[in-house]
Amino acid sequence: MKQDVQNQQTKRGNPYVGFLWVILIVLLLNGLIFPKLSRQKIISTDYGSFIEKVDSGRVKDVMIKSSQIFFTAVDKNGETNTFQTGETNDPQLVERLLDADSPNENGKIAFNQIVPEENSPILNFLLMWILPGLIFYIIWRQTSKTIQSRMGTGGNFMSFGNSGAKIYADADIKTTFADVAGQEEAKETLKEIVDFLHNPKKYTEIGASLPKGALLVGPPGTGKTLIARAVAGEAKVPFFAISGSEFVQMFVGMGAAKVRDLFKQAGEKAPCIIFIDEIDAIGKKREGTFSGNDEREQTLNQLLTEMDGFDGRKGVVILAATNRPESLDKALLRPGRFDRRIQMDLPDLEGRKAILNVHLKKVKHDSINLDIVARATSGSSGAELANIVNEAALRAVRMGRTRVTTSDLEESVETVIAGAQRKGKVISADEKKVIAYHEIGHALVAAMQTHSAPVHKITIIPRTSGALGYTMQVDSGEQVLQSKEDLFNRIVTLTGGRAAEEIVCNTVTTGASNDIEQATKLARAMVTRFGMSDKYDMMGLETVNNAYLGNNDTSLACSSDTAADIDREVLSLIKNAHDKAKSIISENMKVMHEAASFLIEKETITGKEFMDIVHCCTAKTDLNLKSATKLFSVLLASKR
Ligand code: ADP
Ligand code: MG
Ligand code: ZN
Repeated sequence: MKQDVQNQQTKRGNPYVGFLWVILIVLLLNGLIFPKLSRQKIISTDYGSFIEKVDSGRVKDVMIKSSQIFFTAVDKNGETNTFQTGETNDPQLVERLLDADSPNENGKIAFNQIVPEENSPILNFLLMWILPGLIFYIIWRQTSKTIQSRMGTGGNFMSFGNSGAKIYADADIKTTFADVAGQEEAKETLKEIVDFLHNPKKYTEIGASLPKGALLVGPPGTGKTLIARAVAGEAKVPFFAISGSEFVQMFVGMGAAKVRDLFKQAGEKAPCIIFIDEIDAIGKKREGTFSGNDEREQTLNQLLTEMDGFDGRKGVVILAATNRPESLDKALLRPGRFDRRIQMDLPDLEGRKAILNVHLKKVKHDSINLDIVARATSGSSGAELANIVNEAALRAVRMGRTRVTTSDLEESVETVIAGAQRKGKVISADEKKVIAYHEIGHALVAAMQTHSAPVHKITIIPRTSGALGYTMQVDSGEQVLQSKEDLFNRIVTLTGGRAAEEIVCNTVTTGASNDIEQATKLARAMVTRFGMSDKYDMMGLETVNNAYLGNNDTSLACSSDTAADIDREVLSLIKNAHDKAKSIISENMKVMHEAASFLIEKETITGKEFMDIVHCCTAKTDLNLKSATKLFSVLLASKR
């Protein structure tokens, strides 16, 4: 309650400042400028002094009206003034005037000259006070509006309490559900809202009121903002889009005023959609600490109040998006507020194909093998896929082509994943050998474990991201569940690079740093979160703080003794994996040498070429080296 009063005052404080300025300016005008402009000041005087002035020969002209006499006279200093006096039915007046001397050239007082009348007091008041005030008020409003629009949707400063939320008219939004690929469940839910906005009567006649708000939840780049715009585009209703951070203003109470204003505007435009992007900026849990952000909390309180306050049948639907749903205040999520939760997940294989298709429609392209690209991009978000298509188009232009090809897309997948190629980087022959064996080590270990995904591509062309080479693995199908064995095998594959360095080159290099990081993370997760260690059974030892912004943000949920023991468990897992990788490599030294020299020669080899070498070396173990090299050179020739 107290808060509300305070907010009201802050809001109204603005017009006061405006009016004060206007009054000040008008006062200045009247005090300094107008007096100089109006020289014709009419002085009232009595009949006696009029006669006296006439007799002393100082009157220039006289105009007699029914009840008033106006005259101009020159005073002792030679200044001409206009006077006014009452009529007193003086029969000798005309004679007096005729007889009197005058400063006029002919020595006579002029009778017929018209003396300017003073404006009526009302008109005067209007002209001097109201008109300038009005003009300044209008100019004021105009400038504060332009300032507001320049500052985007922000800018409560100097405005008369407008929140200035951008209003997108129907025509502005061309986005439809067709632009959002995949996400079928989300679209299904939102279609109901669209239908409601089209025809609220259908729902209100039954007595149903639709959910006031829906919360779009998912990792970044999955199309939350996109689908919200699509809802507005489909429903053809005004769309108020505002980002949560825009509510958080410098001054306490401003954000709350903005919320109030937004809902007021929306109420007038109903049916319409309010979209609050990144709502976690204001919707974070309110905590009992004193150091809390007052402004944010007030804004959140106001939002909660407004959501309760407006009529659900009016046709205002509030959409909000966030990738940190767990941080939202519980009060926001309760029924009557954002009670619908729409999950936007990272796209699966089919989803990725659909998204690629949507974005490929915007570029000219040859027939594209979507399957390859979609498989190579597992785990990518819609935004990343859009970026990949764009990169491919840029590459096509660089290569002087007019159409995007599959190879453009494949290359841009790598560019997005590993950075652009660094062709200029000089790598010595020795280093190149180590890098090649390292990568072949990964590939070989992956290939030898039936559970690992087949190798897609091996390359030793350095990348701008710092990678000196890499082995790209592509899942053949979409896996929802991963077994303990799958994960362990992945660790084995990750250790394969280092194992090859050790066994073949008798050295260890820094090239394995990224492998080490990934392997450790994976092993740790197996022990602490997936219950895949024998010792800790199904005990959860770590909690994930944020489901959508990477899994790295975890916190331990165990005693420090256990934490030390977890480290030992993780170490033994990694050691086992490393040993397994080493044994795989030492059992297949022939493949190692063959494939590595092929890779050094070609710099990039495909998974198929690699598997050909593997098969020819393993299937026919009795095959002598001569025929192997023969087959190898055939392969080489076919590549050229
Ligand atoms: P979010 O708000 O979830 O972080 P956006 O909606 O801003 O993500 O998505 C960014 C861009 O990624 C979109 O403009 C669009 O080009 C692309 N995109 C994301 N998801 C999809 C999708 N499902 N279908 C088509 N394009 C998508
Ligand atoms: Mg967004
Ligand atoms: Zn490696």
